[in-house]
Amino acid sequence: MRYVSTRGGVSPISFSQAVMMGLATDGGLLLPERIPTVDAERLRQWSRLSFQELAVEVMTPFMTRGERVTGQLPELVRRSFATFSHPEITPVIRAGEHWILELFHGPTLAFKDVALQFLGNLFETLLSEEQGRLNILGATSGDTGSAAIHGVRGRAGIHVFIIHPHGRVSPIQERQMTSVLDANVHNIAIRGSFDDGQSIVKALFNDLPFKQAYRLGAVNSINWARILAQIVYFVHAWGRVTGGDPEKRVVFSVPTGNFGDIFAGYMAMRMGLPVERLVLATNRNDILVRFMESGVYRIGTVQPTISPSMDIQISSNFERYLYYLLDEDAEAVRDAMGRLQREGLFAVSEAKRAQAAEIFVPRRVGEPQTLDRIRSTWEGCGVLVDPHTAVGLEAARDFPEAICLATAHPAKFGEAVQQAVGRESPVPASLDGLMERPTRCRILDPDPEAVRAFMREVLD
Ligand SMILES: *Cc1c(COP(=O)(O)O)cnc(C)c1O
Repeated sequence: MRYVSTRGGVSPISFSQAVMMGLATDGGLLLPERIPTVDAERLRQWSRLSFQELAVEVMTPFMTRGERVTGQLPELVRRSFATFSHPEITPVIRAGEHWILELFHGPTLAFKDVALQFLGNLFETLLSEEQGRLNILGATSGDTGSAAIHGVRGRAGIHVFIIHPHGRVSPIQERQMTSVLDANVHNIAIRGSFDDGQSIVKALFNDLPFKQAYRLGAVNSINWARILAQIVYFVHAWGRVTGGDPEKRVVFSVPTGNFGDIFAGYMAMRMGLPVERLVLATNRNDILVRFMESGVYRIGTVQPTISPSMDIQISSNFERYLYYLLDEDAEAVRDAMGRLQREGLFAVSEAKRAQAAEIFVPRRVGEPQTLDRIRSTWEGCGVLVDPHTAVGLEAARDFPEAICLATAHPAKFGEAVQQAVGRESPVPASLDGLMERPTRCRILDPDPEAVRAFMREVLD
């Protein structure tokens, strides 16, 4: 398999080149040259596999024949999911009329672990081959930073620098980051906001001499390997729920922010997984819902909610879907993205909007309904869910039997859970004693120069 950019400016590259490139050099996102497909008989066989066996089957056709990493995939998969606390890795449970796909059994209790545990191992393997080094730099409002830190802690050839806004992430999220004391992990708390953190990251990535000298890498969901790892659990959950009967089509409901998770579901569908619809569930930050309803993609302002990991303004992975919606016309994607940059919006034709609406069911869920859903799921089914998961469950109210993705453990968003049901979530073993552990973190002014100086101090 070879990879191309949604904007057409990258001549086809291999799987490992695509992983190391992250964002395409022309500003677009990388995608496989074609989508591999799976037939009914193979699907039936796949439904009998363990998560790890299935992961190897699903990922292999996306890799490049002849690359060393392709042969190392079974070992990579084994290592990546050994850190999960549930034997099924991503189990499916019943909750009233819905299924819940639990994606939070990894080290930081959010679904991002599935992809970032894999990406950490993958980076390490690729770097050891070329004897290279990589310095990951990112800003976080909580989940991504901790999952990234746990994905690369202790790995040879990699340093990770994660910026969070000082005192503005939840205490659990902060400790999940700052209590990791491996020598290659560097937490930076800036005296400022998440947006300040992001603009520092942007400034350093735009400083090309610095970027090249220190080989900066990104960990947000623009990396193709993150999407790839997430395709696996859609296939796995389908097999568990249908028993592998290819006649049985399912609906998935996906709490959505950057469109990464739901795009993985779309890829699974394009591979031939019997998916009827994908419910696109958002909170008040509803740019994607508005697009599906109107055909206009228009940037708004971010509004803080009780499901903060979905509080986004631009969905970076949406460009990948747009590429397929526009019939793989890279020039049309480039035009749309140029217009977005210049004017803050772009539009597609009514025919294209209707085509998208055949697959995606857009649903916006407000905070009162989110809290109500946490309460009714607890009282009706004895299952405690976090606010992100509750958005997906509520969005699927017209789809009994939908498989709803549980993207975080309820203990991670304890305040909203407490508010909804009047009791605290039980705390999983991995959080035991977390608040008492020693921490390490550098507090800096919200200034690119301060962060650059700190990175030099560590790396030189
Ligand atoms: C990141 C995140 C999401 C949104 O996922 P996307 O891939 O960005 O759409 C939803 N829920 C939780 C808990 C998350 O951490």
